[in-house]
Amino acid sequence: MKLEECTWPEVAGYLQANKRLIVPIGTCEQHGGHLPLNTDTLVAEKVAEYLSSETGVMVAPTLSYGVNLPCDRRFAGTCSTTKELLAAFLGSILQWWREQGFARFFLLSAHGDPFHIEALKTIDPATVRVLELYAFDMTALLEKQQGPRHACEAETSVMLYLYPEKVQKQAMQDFETPFAEFAPYLMHEKTEAIKGSPGNQGYPSYASAAKGKKLFAIMEQHALAWLLQVRES
Ligand SMILES: [Zn+2]
Repeated sequence: MKLEECTWPEVAGYLQANKRLIVPIGTCEQHGGHLPLNTDTLVAEKVAEYLSSETGVMVAPTLSYGVNLPCDRRFAGTCSTTKELLAAFLGSILQWWREQGFARFFLLSAHGDPFHIEALKTIDPATVRVLELYAFDMTALLEKQQGPRHACEAETSVMLYLYPEKVQKQAMQDFETPFAEFAPYLMHEKTEAIKGSPGNQGYPSYASAAKGKKLFAIMEQHALAWLLQVRES
């Protein structure tokens, strides 16, 4: 059930029985030469759709912008806001809904930039929960990587499962900056382009729809358990 597709009396009716709201948070971020810039947005929306169908909780319009690594500036189309502005903007929106009776907000993010997540977590921890969809141990499901990187074996697998038509297989390039070397970029300390990088980190050539199906099923299970922990309705 999508909030934006309801009339206001329908939303008012919903609020009499349920005060929870799912908010998908996306990004406008390069995902290598093979995945679209809205990859994180699409995945967060798919999980939101699943949660809503399982629980009846309403889904808010997606926020399709977030905080990205400064070193990604050179990849055309990528854009970022700051953690302060993201928190302030989203906080102002949630405040309207809070005043109308929504009491719990469930933010879903398929993007793990630490400043992006920090912004979401600082909004109002008493009423706002944040779930990082890729933050789980997936070692057993991956062949080449220890965990998620970026537009990598894991993320490309999920996209091959959900949206195979959006994956440009011929453009995949494996590329890895060892994590210790990558950390200063992740922490926004190094802002220059990573030499030779096609945008992604990790091994998309090892991705498959079968792996994506398993990864996505775990994301759905985690998200459902997380949502059901808070029973306020
Ligand atoms: Zn992503």
